[in-house]
Amino acid sequence: MDLFEHQGKEFFAGYGLPVSAGEAAFTVADAVAAAQRLGTPVMVKAQVHTGGRGKAGGVKHAADLDAVRQHADRILGLDIKGHIVRRVWIEEASDIAEEYYASFTLDRSAKLHLGMLSAQGGVEIETVAETNPEAVAKIWIDPLDGLTEAVCRDWVAAANLPPAALEGAVEILLKLYDAYTRGDADLVEINPLILTPEGSVHVLDAKVTLDGNSEFRHPDYRQYDATQTRDEREEAAHARGLQYVGLDGSVGVIANGAGLAMSTVDVVNQVGGSPANFLDIGGGANADVMAGALEVINNDPAVKAIFINIFGGITRGEEIAGGILEAMQRVEIDSPIVIRLDGTNATEGRAMLEPHLTDDLLMQPTMLDAARRVVELAG
Ligand code: GDP
Ligand code: MN
Repeated sequence: MDLFEHQGKEFFAGYGLPVSAGEAAFTVADAVAAAQRLGTPVMVKAQVHTGGRGKAGGVKHAADLDAVRQHADRILGLDIKGHIVRRVWIEEASDIAEEYYASFTLDRSAKLHLGMLSAQGGVEIETVAETNPEAVAKIWIDPLDGLTEAVCRDWVAAANLPPAALEGAVEILLKLYDAYTRGDADLVEINPLILTPEGSVHVLDAKVTLDGNSEFRHPDYRQYDATQTRDEREEAAHARGLQYVGLDGSVGVIANGAGLAMSTVDVVNQVGGSPANFLDIGGGANADVMAGALEVINNDPAVKAIFINIFGGITRGEEIAGGILEAMQRVEIDSPIVIRLDGTNATEGRAMLEPHLTDDLLMQPTMLDAARRVVELAG
């Protein structure tokens, strides 16, 4: 679950992290009223589930209420990378001496937590990470050891934060790690973490992704459900009871069983293609389920070819073939389909499909052959 910046800051505040006072607003009038209560100057900040708001004109300094009115008017309704701004966060403006970057996330391949810290934070952090990777100090933390203050001090020094920021940064990083672990977050990121001219270290931005599976431990996380940006394809698929995850590619994938569906996604990648989705239709492959799956995939404009990869087990090949043929009569498909059918009674199933094969409905003997063909067709 991705949090808006202001939700992330409330989450941080619960773990004692220093954030600025602020209020969320949905209208220009509310934004002005909030600024009046807080006292100017304030920042007017777009609340969307994407970064780079500053560069897109979604973060503005307002010296007085007139400026708040103008900025809120401009920012509400703004399109930031396809996300329309529906709410702004009005917060007391801070004075900045320096901008740093800090984050914790899970390094799945190392099976450890990864902390990243840089003295060169701010809106250009992606460029810094690419062109000057040594400016980002990384530490890997064993969850059983946790993050100790001693390790944290060395880390801050390794990141070249100035001595003036040392104590404040260490305190914030320990609290941030606490929020990340006890709060069951997948990602916590502060960019920028600032040093003020007065010498205090302060949180100016919050990017937080919580682990939705931890909701049983945190009933209050349910409040975030309503503000998630949903993938329309996933909504449609889940409404049909399908196990579907949207991806960015052009090959629609339908497979039976989560393991086979994952392998299908892998093999499409392996032969140079890119999957548009993961879709597990489960053990059976009756016409209803197959029609639902084809409909969801066909409605995805990015899909250029479809890969149906079925391994018959308890469900026999001829039932599967029958399901596919009936589904294709119900749904009008815009993209070519490549089928790989194997497993129990595959011979019988293939024999049923054979008479219906065309340039747009192909069959291949193996998973790898089918993957190559479908990737070719997807272009
Ligand atoms: P992002 O662009 O989506 O990451 O949005 P941020 O919240 O990080 O804001 C972008 C930039 O705006 C920051 O890097 C700061 O330079 C600036 N900024 C944000 N808040 C303040 C503030 O309170 N005072 C000042 N002076 N600048 C701010
Ligand atoms: Mn930021």
